Amino acid sequence: SVKVPSDIEIAQQAKMLPIAQIAKKWGILDEELELYGKYKTKISLDIFERLKDKEDGKLILVTAITPTPAGEGKSTTGVGLGQALNKIGKKAVIALREPSLGPVFGVKGGAAGGGYAQVVPMEDINLHFTGDMHAITTANNLLSAAIDNHIHQGNALKIDARQIVWKRVLDMNDRSLRSVVVGIGPKGNGFVREDGFMITVASEVMAVLCLASDLMDLKERFGRMIVAYNMDGDPITAAQLGIHGAMGLLFKDAIKPNLVQTLENTPALIHGGPFANIAHGCNSIMATKLGLKLGEYVVTEAGFGADLGAEKFLDIKCRYGNLKPAAVVVVATIKALKMHGGVKKTELGTENLEALDAGFENLEKQVENIRTFGLPVLVAVNRFVNDTEAEIALLMKKCEEAGVEVALNEVWEKGGDGGVEMAQKLVNIVEKEEADFKLLYDVEASIPEKVNKIVTKIYGGNGVVFTGPAKKQIKKLEELELDKLPICMAKTQYSLSDNASLLGAPKDFEITVREVKISAGAGFIVCLTGDVMTMPGLPKVPSANKMDIDEDGNIVGLF
Ligand code: ADP
Repeated sequence: SVKVPSDIEIAQQAKMLPIAQIAKKWGILDEELELYGKYKTKISLDIFERLKDKEDGKLILVTAITPTPAGEGKSTTGVGLGQALNKIGKKAVIALREPSLGPVFGVKGGAAGGGYAQVVPMEDINLHFTGDMHAITTANNLLSAAIDNHIHQGNALKIDARQIVWKRVLDMNDRSLRSVVVGIGPKGNGFVREDGFMITVASEVMAVLCLASDLMDLKERFGRMIVAYNMDGDPITAAQLGIHGAMGLLFKDAIKPNLVQTLENTPALIHGGPFANIAHGCNSIMATKLGLKLGEYVVTEAGFGADLGAEKFLDIKCRYGNLKPAAVVVVATIKALKMHGGVKKTELGTENLEALDAGFENLEKQVENIRTFGLPVLVAVNRFVNDTEAEIALLMKKCEEAGVEVALNEVWEKGGDGGVEMAQKLVNIVEKEEADFKLLYDVEASIPEKVNKIVTKIYGGNGVVFTGPAKKQIKKLEELELDKLPICMAKTQYSLSDNASLLGAPKDFEITVREVKISAGAGFIVCLTGDVMTMPGLPKVPSANKMDIDEDGNIVGLF
């Protein structure tokens, strides 16, 4: 068999065009470009004023079945679909999340697509890029510094040091920083207290960036963020510390969407990348809206499976951004469906039609979930080399029997050419079927009512149980009148239920919410169903150990 080149090898062979040339072709003016070298640019927000009367393109969301630890290829499919749409003569723009540096050095796994469906320059996108992560880290930690300094300087706001909810962040997988003690030493070092670090993308600052409509909205949202409670139990915000203006200042450039290209010179807006569990997991509203002004189609993605990623994309991002998707692509892989049908990971290389047949229920449920929102669906079967013809034929047949459009997706192996059928089917769906998008719940409903709707309508469960502490937290949010916000579920991505070992489409289960937290700046209520890791650790042999650079600047081992 032939050796499959690695993602970085493919990326290094790409024939990139100067990004200014791509920008020009897509109607962006020279004076709207803020170039970071030859192949990356930020785009001035002035463009929104100039294009305000231009009709928006169509928004396509790429989501997936319930994932397995391997990843189902959403980014790869999104990038490949954008390339393929351009192949069939549609002006398509891609809008993706920015990768986090921590996982780059931790567990191998591309964050910029894969195979012949990637965004480039992938080294830059994965390492530092245009510095947005730095702005987030700095703004977050400025706020931390302000909290400790406020206490040190006399604590006029009577901040209860035991009730500081704001943590420090760093864009690194470093488990040693999960729990730290700050302020140790002489009096001049401030008060001693327990603190902890999260990875930068888990910061509420990131979620705020992704949901803000402009710089002033960003600043106001920063101001509303709750950092602690005082001795009377009242919330203390960033605005009370007088720090949100300086935080906004740090975003004078980071607020602008970044433009790069795919291996086939399709424009890709890459901006913002909030954690998909304690936040909503989609790129910025601003980048998506910019894409809608530039292209006839915008292909974007949301983290995890449709029950988590798509639900939050639709109920949080689309609600705040007033976005109306035209259609949704659900990525499925044969190996993951076989796992949902009971096959062990080690036996996925063997043909197993029975397991595929059984695991199909997961795809069926995720398709139903998208239809609950009134949106048309296309299933994209992401083809892997081990998939057999009989397995592919069975999956296609089952989709047809279930009345859902399906296309084979070979963009990983063939780039845009491998997605032409998928793109054509998608265009047919969008041109034929008018989406009737409706949000799942009324934001004015109570927290239990909203969560109950997500559990029963999307997860397929019987209902929700709140633990004692969670009930108390709900009562507190009701008292503060902060309960009329969208819900951001934090649940395992590996099951429709809150138990990672229940694969397929489980029934007769309840979801237990253990903790309810407010992200008042981002504007959502986080409901945690278990422990969520906000600071990952490194594995025994981190990917970093395989990375290197030589004296000519050649990079190896970066995916
Ligand atoms: P997701 O967005 O669902 O997490 P990605 O698109 O990032 O998934 O893909 C995860 C990994 O799987 C990447 O390293 C990518 O190169 C690889 N991959 C995706 N599709 C295929 C495929 N059809 N064959 C082989 N590898 C693939």
